[in-house]
Amino acid sequence: MIDFSLSEELSALRDRYETFIRDVIIPLERDPRQGPHGPEEALRLEMVQEARAAKLLSPHGPREWGGLGLDHRGMAVVFEAAGWSPLGPLAVNIQAPDEGNTNLLNQVATPAQKERWLGPLVRGEIRTVFSMTEPDGGAGSDPTLLKTTARRVGDEFIINGRKWLITGAPGAALNIVMARTEDASGHDLGATMLLVDMDAPGFSIKRILNTMDSNSPGGHAEVEFHDVRVGRDRVLGEVGKGFRYAQIRLAPARLTHCMRWLGAARRSHAIALEYARHRQAFGRAIGEHQGVGFMIADNETDINLCRLAIWHAAWMLDQGEQARQETSMYKVYCSEALGRVVDRSLQILGGMGMTDDTVVERIYRDIRAFRIYDGPSEVHRFAIARAALGRDPSAR
Ligand SMILES: Cc1cc2nc3c(=O)[nH]c(=O)nc-3n(C[C@H](O)[C@H](O)[C@H](O)COP(=O)(O)OP(=O)(O)OC[C@H]3O[C@@H](n4cnc5c(N)ncnc54)[C@H](O)[C@@H]3O)c2cc1C
Repeated sequence: MIDFSLSEELSALRDRYETFIRDVIIPLERDPRQGPHGPEEALRLEMVQEARAAKLLSPHGPREWGGLGLDHRGMAVVFEAAGWSPLGPLAVNIQAPDEGNTNLLNQVATPAQKERWLGPLVRGEIRTVFSMTEPDGGAGSDPTLLKTTARRVGDEFIINGRKWLITGAPGAALNIVMARTEDASGHDLGATMLLVDMDAPGFSIKRILNTMDSNSPGGHAEVEFHDVRVGRDRVLGEVGKGFRYAQIRLAPARLTHCMRWLGAARRSHAIALEYARHRQAFGRAIGEHQGVGFMIADNETDINLCRLAIWHAAWMLDQGEQARQETSMYKVYCSEALGRVVDRSLQILGGMGMTDDTVVERIYRDIRAFRIYDGPSEVHRFAIARAALGRDPSAR
């Protein structure tokens, strides 16, 4: 049976995260070291130092590398607390793609690879990127369209191709690259993940894309690999198993997005509630009008159902189950429901909702991409429907 109770230890830890976000991080939300392509590295390092001093850095990171080693239910609680501020996840080192990359490296990397990258990543010293998506008809919703190649020649792989929408590329130290591996004669060896230094000869950042969101340091880039050479020691796991490792990364990563965005949606709702209690129109507080009251009720419902869904999937992952279907369904549900919460909150704020006088405007711009990355809603629905159609109709 699913246990919804929080241990005293976890409640106390949640309180410490909430206090840290309120007292240390929210005052930095208007720090000028932020622009359309996200917070600058100096701001990130300053916040990480604060989180380190408060012993709140890397709640997801393995203990042996300096993290708090929380299980998925523990992560659900503290990620939600950190998500209350758009800067919170970055401050405590649980921002995407670093958080998912930590999990991937922890599960698949060799001891030497962990020493080199996982330790510094968990300690917040470096940032990493994950390069899957490609422009010009390559990998996107359908990852099998992967065009980037890594040709094995002797003891090396030579990588060629382009990627785009690569979050956090400028300033990162490590690039986890998905490529179609071939032997010297061009024979397909399957997709492989390769660990590439960001300063490797032949690698370049072609442009930083101008996107709606602005919460990722470095923004989102288009990058090119031109005869980039890496040794065998840079293969993550085994050659040809890239898609399997992508699933190891993606299922929990979908859920952690839900956890962080739950905190952000709750913050928007709290700001809207405060406004609805006091703003007068037509002789009463606007919250007393049924039209606004229904929006408040729908926000409450969406927030609580998302929390239940997250807890269920976190519990399954903690039991050692893969929860692929659940994380897929809950990612669709939470990305849409939490997007609606932020949208209604903005509507309740009237014209002020469109301004940056509150953080709701920023959250509204940032959360939109959640319905697209880590699989657009339609692709998850496509997979869920396909699984349902292939099942015995009487099965539960
Ligand atoms: C802010 C942001 C950050 C990102 N960061 C990264 C990153 O760090 N690394 C990385 O590799 N990628 C990243 N991405 C890319 C993201 O993973 C892709 O955008 C996503 O996988 C969709 O691929 P696509 O953009 O090529 O869409 P397309 O494949 O062109 O699909 C377009 C649309 O077609 C529809 N569609 C596709 N297939 C189906 C189907 N079977 N049934 C019904 N409808 C369908 C969907 O509505 C979909 O939105 C990021 C994207 C965003 C927006």
